[in-house]
Amino acid sequence: MTKELIARARKIVIKFGSNTLAGSNGRINNMFLGEFAGQAAELIKEGKQIVIVSSGAQLAGLSAMDKWERKKDIHYRQALCAVGQVLLMNAWEQAFAPRGIHIAQILLTRDDFADNTRTLNMRNTLFTLVDEGIVPIINENDSVSVEEIKIGDNDTLAAQSAILWSADLLILFSDIDGLYDKNPREYPDAKLVEEVHDIAEARRSAITGTGGGNDGGAGKFGTGGIVTKLDAAEQVVSYGIPMILAQGRRKQPLYALASGAGQGTAFLV
Ligand code: ADP
Repeated sequence: MTKELIARARKIVIKFGSNTLAGSNGRINNMFLGEFAGQAAELIKEGKQIVIVSSGAQLAGLSAMDKWERKKDIHYRQALCAVGQVLLMNAWEQAFAPRGIHIAQILLTRDDFADNTRTLNMRNTLFTLVDEGIVPIINENDSVSVEEIKIGDNDTLAAQSAILWSADLLILFSDIDGLYDKNPREYPDAKLVEEVHDIAEARRSAITGTGGGNDGGAGKFGTGGIVTKLDAAEQVVSYGIPMILAQGRRKQPLYALASGAGQGTAFLV
């Protein structure tokens, strides 16, 4: 199914969680980014258009300001994102440059999606960039986002971006193979669900938990967990956009899905 969805789609939004972008040393995995850019470049050559939603500013920031690791104060967190966002974009730029592809940074807050003029501007900018062969890389503007204006997690940001750009497909790359019928970290007998047609039903049956995040869950850097992925699926599917949730921490994750070799969960309209 994932193979068909990718084959059919022309406009694809691809989101990476922080855990997916981190190497075993807890820093941005430049090799992974480079390999991903290679896979994306192939799809672009085939005529597809790609928008990336990338977390990882904090994690990139910590590699420069490791003494801030224990500083939980909001101003330090936001300062860390400001430092890290530059490093994150630098890493993406270096990944795409050898393929002759330019990237562009778009930082958004919840307010941007609530304002008609801004939404229209964002949409036009996205269309212009992509038409020019540039790969936009979207992230939440964490340095200015206080609680009231936070989108909160990049699954939701990715879903809203996919709707805004009228994408044909949203792919969430996470540290898990897809949606399981119960939390696989707690239940070794959990089974992967390959296709979801009824998200409300999937939500009821999966023992969702809160997933990763800084709450002692699976990942050190992730926020959101499976609940926000189901929320994202619900949002895009209601606009007729299918979504794939798949493992990003494997060799050539995009090729694997496109060739049908990789597993994943398809959320269908
Ligand atoms: P990311 O950082 O990629 O956004 P998260 O770590 O926040 O991802 O969320 C994914 C995690 O959600 C998985 O690693 C898993 O531990 C947890 N999870 C809880 N319930 C489920 C379920 N039913 N199916 C899949 N994953 C689940």
